[in-house]
Amino acid sequence: MMSRLWFRTLLQHLAIVLAGAGVGWLYDRLIWGLLGAIGVLLLWHVYNLFLLERWLTTGERGPLPSGDGPWSQVLARVQAVNDRARENRRAWVRLVKELRASTKAFPDGGVILNKDMEIVRSNKVARSLLGLKKKRDRGTRIENLIRHPEFIHYLETGSKKRSVEIPAPTDNDVWLSCRVIPYGMDQKLLLVRDISESVKMAKMRRDFAANASHELRSPLTVIAGYLDVMAEDENLPEAWVGPVEDMREQSVRMRRLVDDLLQLTRLESAESCPRDKRVDVESLLQSVRRDALAQRDRPRTIELDIESTRGILGEETDLQSVVTNLVNNAVRYTPHEGSVLIGWRTDDKGGQIWVKDTGIGISDDDLPRITERFYRTSAARARQEGGTGLGLAIVKHALKRHDAELIIESKLGSGSQFTCRFPKERIAAS
Ligand code: ADP
Repeated sequence: MMSRLWFRTLLQHLAIVLAGAGVGWLYDRLIWGLLGAIGVLLLWHVYNLFLLERWLTTGERGPLPSGDGPWSQVLARVQAVNDRARENRRAWVRLVKELRASTKAFPDGGVILNKDMEIVRSNKVARSLLGLKKKRDRGTRIENLIRHPEFIHYLETGSKKRSVEIPAPTDNDVWLSCRVIPYGMDQKLLLVRDISESVKMAKMRRDFAANASHELRSPLTVIAGYLDVMAEDENLPEAWVGPVEDMREQSVRMRRLVDDLLQLTRLESAESCPRDKRVDVESLLQSVRRDALAQRDRPRTIELDIESTRGILGEETDLQSVVTNLVNNAVRYTPHEGSVLIGWRTDDKGGQIWVKDTGIGISDDDLPRITERFYRTSAARARQEGGTGLGLAIVKHALKRHDAELIIESKLGSGSQFTCRFPKERIAAS
C-alpha cells in the first residue's frame, strides 16, 4: 500500500516537474520552468510538514490538519495510529481504576514493601489496622511501625512460618494475622487480616476448659479420698470390693484427664518461652527412663542413647512433660517383648530428642490426626490402657513454646519414632 503511495507520488511529482519544464520550454525558459515546479512542490511539502509538526507539538490536541494528495493519506494513517493509542490509553486508565476500586473493596489490608522493607504503598484497610498515615509513613521501614518482637522475628527468619499473629499497634484488643509474601521484583506484600473475633472465640474456649477443669478438681479429690478410705476398709462387703476398685481407677483417670486439660489450656495461651535457662537434657532423659522402668507393664528394654552433653534453652517442666508423654506412650503401646530407645543428639542445625519403640505403630490414615485433642486410634482404644488422648497435643504445644517441631514416623505393626527437633538458637553453648 505504502509502496504504491510513494510510487504514485513519484509519478505525480515527475509529471508536475515535466509540466513545469514544458511550460518553461514554451517560453524559452526551460530551467526556470523546471526550478519553479520543483520550488512549488518543495514549498507545498514544507507547508504540510509545518502543519503536522504544529499539531504534534500542541500535544496532539485539536483536529489533525487535512492535507492533499499523498499528505492526505499520510495524515489519515497518523490519525488511525493516534486513535488506537488513545483507545489503549483509555483502556489502561479504566483497568487501573478497576484495580484500585477492587483493592479498596478488599476486606484485608495490603502493604507493598520494597526490598529494604520500606513502605511503598498501602490500602485503606491496612492503614486503619496498622495505624499508618499515607504520606507520613511512605518510605518508612515497617519494623519501625510494627515493633512487636514476634513480628520482627518473623521478618528476620525469612518468613519460615506462614503467618504471625500479633496485637494491633494501635489497639491491644484487636488481633492481626500478618503474612509477608514475595511480590513483583524484589518487593514484598504484607497482608494484614483482623482476626480478633476468632482469637476471642479461642480464648473463650480455653477459659471455659480451664475453669471447668479447675472446678472439677476439688470434688474429684473428695470422691477419690472417700474411695481410698472405702478400699482400705476391711468391713467393706465383698460385693462392693470390685466396684470400689473400678471407681478408684476411674477417679484416677478422671484426675489425669482434668490435669492434662489444665496443662493443655495453660500451654495453649502461653507465649514463646525465654531462652535464659539451660535444661540439662541428659539428666532429664535419665529421670524419665527411671520412672518408665518403675512401671508395671513395661517393655523389657528401655535404653538411652545420649550423643551430646549440650542442654536446651527453655522451660524444664515443659520439656519434662514432652519427654514423659512420649516415653509413656512408647511404653503403653509397646508389648512386653518390645523395646524403647530414648535419644539426644545435636549438630550445627540444632538438636533432636527422639523416642523410638517397636510397638503397635500407627496407620497412615491415623498419623496426621494423632496430635489432635482426644484423638485416639482404634488400636489404642482397644488396649484400654487409660490414655487421655491429650498427651500429644500437650507435647505439640510445649514444643511450640520452644520453637521446636514434632516429627512422627511410624509403621503399623512395626513401631514408631517421635522426634522433637529444636532449632540451633535453642541449644545451649555447653
Ligand atoms: P493417649 O493418652 O491416648 O496416649 P496421646 O495424645 O498421647 O493420647 O496419643 C494419641 C494417640 O496416638 C494414642 O491414642 C495412640 O493411638 C497414638 N499413639 C501415640 N503414641 C504412640 C506410639 N508410640 N505407638 C503407637 N500409637 C501411638
